[in-house]
Amino acid sequence: ALPVVAIVGRPNVGKSALVNRILGRREAVVEDVPGVTRDRVSYPAEWAGKRFTVVDTGGWEPDARGIDAAVAQQAEVAIELCDAVMFVVDSRVGPTATDEHVVGLLRRTQKPVFLVANKVDDAVQEPEAAALWSLGLGEPRPVSALHGRGVADLLDEIIAAL
Ligand code: GDP
Ligand code: MG
Repeated sequence: ALPVVAIVGRPNVGKSALVNRILGRREAVVEDVPGVTRDRVSYPAEWAGKRFTVVDTGGWEPDARGIDAAVAQQAEVAIELCDAVMFVVDSRVGPTATDEHVVGLLRRTQKPVFLVANKVDDAVQEPEAAALWSLGLGEPRPVSALHGRGVADLLDEIIAAL
C-alpha cells in the first residue's frame, strides 16, 4: 500500500485548498463555509516520482460536543491511519483553542508531523507564520495553498519522511 499523508486542522484553514494544490487539480471541495468536506476523503498523489495517498479531513458538524471534540476526533482517526501528518493552521488567525487541542494529540504520536502555516500569500505574512513556533511542534512551514507559495518545499520534506 502507498504511504498515507493525512491533512488535519480546524475548519476553514485551507486543508482542501492544500489538497488541490498537491494534486495539481481541483478535486477536494474548497468552501468559504466551513464543514463541507466529507469525513476523510483519500486521493492518489505524486511528488518528485514518489506516490502516496493524501487524506483530506473535515465534515464535522459542530454538535453538542462542540467543534473542539469534532475536530479532535477527526484528527485522532487520521493520525492513526497515516504515515505522516500535515497539521494546517491559518497563520492569519493564529493559534486557537481548537488548534491547541489538536496539538495535544499530535504530541503523542511518533509519526512525522509537519506544521503548515497556511495563507502566507506573500512575504509580508512570514512573521505570522513564525508566531506558530509557540505551538511547540517545531518549525512552521509557511505556505499559500491558494497560490502555491512554499508548497514545493513542503512536499520535498514530506516525501523525504515517508
Ligand atoms: P478547509 O475547511 O480547511 O478544507 O478549508 P478550505 O480549503 O475549504 O478553504 C477555506 C477558505 O480559505 C476558502 O475561502 C479558501 O479560498 C481560503 N484559503 C485556503 N487557502 C488559502 C490561502 O493560501 N490563502 C488565502 N488567502 N486563502 C486561502
Ligand atoms: Mg475542507
